[in-house]
Amino acid sequence: MTSRVALVTGGTGGIGTAICARLAQLGHRVATNYRNEEKARAWQSQMQQSGVDVLLVPGDVGDAAQAEALVREVEGKLGPVEILVNNAGITRDTTFHRMRAEQWNEVINTNLNSVFNMTRPVIEGMRERKWGRIVQISSINGQKGQYGQANYAAAKAGMHGFTISLAQENAKFGITVNTVSPGYIGTEMVMAVPEDVRNKIVAQIPTGRLGTPEEIAYAVTFFMPDEAGWITGTNLSANGGQYMGW
Ligand code: NDP
Repeated sequence: MTSRVALVTGGTGGIGTAICARLAQLGHRVATNYRNEEKARAWQSQMQQSGVDVLLVPGDVGDAAQAEALVREVEGKLGPVEILVNNAGITRDTTFHRMRAEQWNEVINTNLNSVFNMTRPVIEGMRERKWGRIVQISSINGQKGQYGQANYAAAKAGMHGFTISLAQENAKFGITVNTVSPGYIGTEMVMAVPEDVRNKIVAQIPTGRLGTPEEIAYAVTFFMPDEAGWITGTNLSANGGQYMGW
């Protein structure tokens, strides 16, 4: 596979770590953002110990100016961004009748506005160079909805609407745009759910287990090779069979 410059948002998290590692193992030059430098440097040295080199750049993806600055820093250090994985995300769960405006806004801003903030500074370069790969990490809960997650499900479903529109606009420019919708993965986000609730979730998964970050990384890198150039505007569900709709 040709070596490309890949930018993964939220790369220091559970799923992001596996995506960064897999992209690097495939020979790509990988960068990610951080907000807490100390935490990020510790993560970087752990990655280096396992032979994975990832460039760290500061920036909050929910802030358009910071997002643009982080893209420019990556470009200055590694070259034009050819692969963008919009993975950074948060939850602020509560039922809608109790939801405060800030819980709604924080989730929409971090999970959905960030996709605009990050994609806008890379898209023109990709169009000029006639090659690009953009992948959104959405969620099974953006497909089927989830009690207590009206904010998160709205943001995650919005990502897919974005994907299918951007895919149409950029197909002639060698750019593919796709979504990966993970089911429940054994990361901190899910392990923070009370054990009895987690057991009920696992009982609904036909494979009988949570997914692994590596399984999501595999789904993401499926879209990278030139041979995947005809696959655009799709949503790839990676959820152990829990939801088999779109
Ligand atoms: P983690 O909480 O482990 O990682 C999230 C990452 O996003 C962290 O690196 C975090 O950085 C970063 N991040 C959050 N907010 C911002 C921000 N405003 N600016 C920059 N970076 C930010 O989550 P997961 O790895 O579990 O999830 C990754 C993605 O996968 C998310 O989009 C999530 O919604 C989605 N997903 C996860 C599932 C799961 O089961 N885990 C299931 C379905 C989808 P920091 O350390 O600074 O907070």
